[in-house]
Amino acid sequence: MTELSGLQIFKYLPAAKKAEHTNCKECGCPTCMAYALKLAKHQIGIDKCSYLPDDLKEIFIQSSKQPQKTVEIKGVKIGGENVLYRHEKTFINKTAIAVVIDMAKPDWKEKYNRVKNFEIKRVNEFLKVDLIVTQNGKLPNCITYDELKKLPLKEIVDEEFSKTSEELIAIRTKAVLEKDENFSNPVYVYFKHTQDLNLLCAKASFYICKYANMFVFEDFDEAVMTTLMTLRQNIFTDPQKPLQVESKIYEFNNPDENSLIFMTTNFALTFYAVANELESLPVPSYLIVTPADGMSVLTAWSAEKFTAQMVAKTLKKLDFASRVKNRKIIIPGLLAHMKEELEEEIKDFEIVVGTIEAFAISDFVKNLDINLE
Ligand code: SF4
Repeated sequence: MTELSGLQIFKYLPAAKKAEHTNCKECGCPTCMAYALKLAKHQIGIDKCSYLPDDLKEIFIQSSKQPQKTVEIKGVKIGGENVLYRHEKTFINKTAIAVVIDMAKPDWKEKYNRVKNFEIKRVNEFLKVDLIVTQNGKLPNCITYDELKKLPLKEIVDEEFSKTSEELIAIRTKAVLEKDENFSNPVYVYFKHTQDLNLLCAKASFYICKYANMFVFEDFDEAVMTTLMTLRQNIFTDPQKPLQVESKIYEFNNPDENSLIFMTTNFALTFYAVANELESLPVPSYLIVTPADGMSVLTAWSAEKFTAQMVAKTLKKLDFASRVKNRKIIIPGLLAHMKEELEEEIKDFEIVVGTIEAFAISDFVKNLDINLE
């Protein structure tokens, strides 16, 4: 049984039934709906409302049971998942990545150093190998394979893709939908040494989505790690909290008062797509990032988070007009319909409609007939 949503809880409350005590506020919430939403998030006790029917209490307690245990290994938490699909709520603990160091092998130190030194930065996050599992010896802050085997975890040694994927799906389904305690241990997939790293990467990519809590790799390959950590970062972001960057003016290639000026919202993926292009331009530029709760440009516009008034306010707050002589701001092509509205509101600047896609910025700039003086 999956956890009850606020709306499902609300159906049992006096307000939904138009019964006595509707919105009586005795629980400390202004309405029954507010109480239901809080209860669904476990932010208020079930005992705070005296008018809940017994059947709701029973269903709520059953549905609130944690389907999967959380296990902590050397500070790395795995498991604790309670949904099958990320959009239902969110995934909790990302698939941990562990690498085996076999200390009986002559080149173990070289491998150990490569693993320890591997780090990539993506969307403001530093991504590293989470855990080292040793064999035939011990190392500080690492776990031995024998110790790992004693933890409340389920090991699947990867052989055939169909077998492993079916097992992972069956275990998570049993845990989440049936709350079957026999399937509540987090699951790790053990990958033995292989010649085919492409196949390993493809399989592990699938298992990140469905439903490995951890990988233990005998192989260590930087390209595979980069691919898996990038995918993992995308899957394990909270869909209700878009990744966002700070709203401010970013500078590329030492801009001066005559440099190009671009504008976008603070949705991290849009920002990095645009920033990468601006970094590689042969000319310097500014990028004005407006606050939009981490929404992409079109979503922000439709949610009224990117309005001419807000853009004007941002420019004023950043005191941008006094910093530059260039009076032309290039806006995303998706917002072409806002050109006149923006020009009306932002008296200091003319609006130029840019590209719809970030990759086209370079060609756009080449063909730009823009007088920056
Ligand atoms: Fe509604 Fe119960 Fe809160 Fe009263 S105490 S407002 S009935 S949820």
